[in-house]
Amino acid sequence: MFQLTEEVKAFRDMVRRMTREKIAPRAAEIDRKGEYPADIKEMFCKAGLMGLSVPEAYGGQGGSHINLCIAVEEVARACTASSLILQVQSLGTMPIVLSGNDEQKRRYLPKLASGEYIASFGLTEPNAGSDASATQTKAVLRGDRYILNGSKHFISNGPVADTTVVFAMTDPTQGVKGISAFIVESKFPGYRRGKIEKTMGIRGAPTCEIYFEDCEVPAENLLGLAGTGFVIAMKTLDTSRPVIAAQAVGIAQGALDSAIEYSKMRIQFGRPISSFQGLQWMMADMAAQIEAARMLTYHAAILIDTEDPKKSYMSACAKLIASDTAMRVTTDALQIAAGYGYSVEYPFERYMRDAKITQIYEGTNQIQKIVIANSLLK
Ligand SMILES: Cc1cc2nc3c(=O)[nH]c(=O)nc-3n(C[C@H](O)[C@H](O)[C@H](O)COP(=O)(O)OP(=O)(O)OC[C@H]3O[C@@H](n4cnc5c(N)ncnc54)[C@H](O)[C@@H]3O)c2cc1C
Repeated sequence: MFQLTEEVKAFRDMVRRMTREKIAPRAAEIDRKGEYPADIKEMFCKAGLMGLSVPEAYGGQGGSHINLCIAVEEVARACTASSLILQVQSLGTMPIVLSGNDEQKRRYLPKLASGEYIASFGLTEPNAGSDASATQTKAVLRGDRYILNGSKHFISNGPVADTTVVFAMTDPTQGVKGISAFIVESKFPGYRRGKIEKTMGIRGAPTCEIYFEDCEVPAENLLGLAGTGFVIAMKTLDTSRPVIAAQAVGIAQGALDSAIEYSKMRIQFGRPISSFQGLQWMMADMAAQIEAARMLTYHAAILIDTEDPKKSYMSACAKLIASDTAMRVTTDALQIAAGYGYSVEYPFERYMRDAKITQIYEGTNQIQKIVIANSLLK
């Protein structure tokens, strides 16, 4: 399958160190206050981590998804909300990497790679969740600009984003073939942020509604050809699903690390609870499931980096398995800490709340099964 190169291992160690020293001590506070960790974003900018999915020619770190997955995994091991800074930057940048023309790439990618611009991805609407073909936001060409009207919701990074790649109907008679993608800057006239969502987990990762009220978008900000927006969205999600899988692996690993530490320290019946075989087997199952999910995730990332035809299938498999693993492992980790696990004084309930979102965003796990089955039956 693959072996991580020494270069990738050194990169992983660098992110691991940074996470342990600077992010882990902030994780509980970020969750409690529900605050976007701007200081951590600045640290990522200085370390060159915001441009992991951008080619070097446009100021990025080379566009390696294995590196991006490893960075997200390592950060999520301590703080899922901070890992979204890297994950969503890539999600909102990849449509430009995949489908932008040279002029669009030169205009936007260097700023996104450096973190000067924060990216977001605007596909979901109140009536178009799993079914993107129900997109109601409209874009009409008037002279040299498109006029957008409609709304998006649940847009990660929305409150802090400089750019949103927005998917809007340019020809409603064509169904998904009538959807087009646009690079929309938050400073364009008619772009308005709505309510910020209060969420169960990832509380330091802000998510909001975005409204387009006769929003003026220069025609040159159309990505690809009119009518190719749905394909651009699906290609982007193929590249980003292993990143969610990596986030899930990191969350699960963080929960297991905490459970091991706790089990060695907690004394019941006169000995550490880690000495009970019932808990040892639980931890062994958790570790084995994480190892399997991690291998699948790295495999999917490498298929993306090598443009393998099975990348879409494997990305969906990785997200499905890793997110279900994260939900199971975090539930078991909390069970190991029992009453203290249920208390907000310990990180277990945070890991469990954060794990849940990985089964939902970038396509629910039911949708991943549809992608996998379509691929099997094609
Ligand atoms: C915190 C957060 C951040 C998000 N960030 C972003 C973002 O940055 N950009 C963005 O565009 N979106 C974002 N989303 C939206 C997310 O991708 C959607 O919530 C998700 O795709 C599911 O859509 P929905 O919530 O409308 O569920 P629905 O589509 O209403 O689904 C409801 C249920 O029906 C099931 N279902 C639907 N269709 C089928 C089917 N054909 N077969 C079987 N089961 C089915 C689903 O699996 C689910 O269980 C975010 C969501 C959250 C909660």
